[in-house]
Amino acid sequence: MVTTEVGKMGKYDAYFIQYGITTPKIESELRPVIARIDDTVAKGSFFYLVHWIYPFEPGTNFFTAVTRQQDQWKKRYGELSEVLFTHEMAGHPPHIHKDAELLFHIGTNPDDPMDLGAEVQMYMGPEMEKHVFNKSTVIWIPPNFIHSPWRPLTTTRPWIFIEVNQGPRHTEKSFRQLLPRELREATPWDKMWPDEGYTR
Ligand SMILES: [Zn+2]
Repeated sequence: MVTTEVGKMGKYDAYFIQYGITTPKIESELRPVIARIDDTVAKGSFFYLVHWIYPFEPGTNFFTAVTRQQDQWKKRYGELSEVLFTHEMAGHPPHIHKDAELLFHIGTNPDDPMDLGAEVQMYMGPEMEKHVFNKSTVIWIPPNFIHSPWRPLTTTRPWIFIEVNQGPRHTEKSFRQLLPRELREATPWDKMWPDEGYTR
């Protein structure tokens, strides 16, 4: 059924938030975002970020697979060293947040909601304890708890990633010193993983 009632409705329009339509697009954002909200968008809201993860060939650069904007990716970061996506500890490097974080990994198999359609790897704690999972999963990360590298190892069906920081704005502080040297040296830190909300 087609309805003609889409659009301006009344005084609560501002409560219907559409990323890049009713809120500004984040220019630096290359991921396929479907929702991004924080205290600056809705007073009193925590930080929420929702985006797709697309299928990619195992062993390829999963960063560009996540964005589907390979040209822009290359323009910003140049040719990245292969170690950044093939190394055992590749992915979003170890870090902490001021507030608790929840990472929702949501599969889209209508016949099996717990089937993620992907294998995801995550390291936890200062010990870098390795976890791999393939079910719809929420990872609970207490405030100031060291976590990551995080990365999808495979993706055979698109799935949805939801990042929640239980604070008014996203914060992040790198613990790159936990990474092996070859990975640390290959990472363009100033461009890829800037700290946010911490003063060193
Ligand atoms: Zn995090």
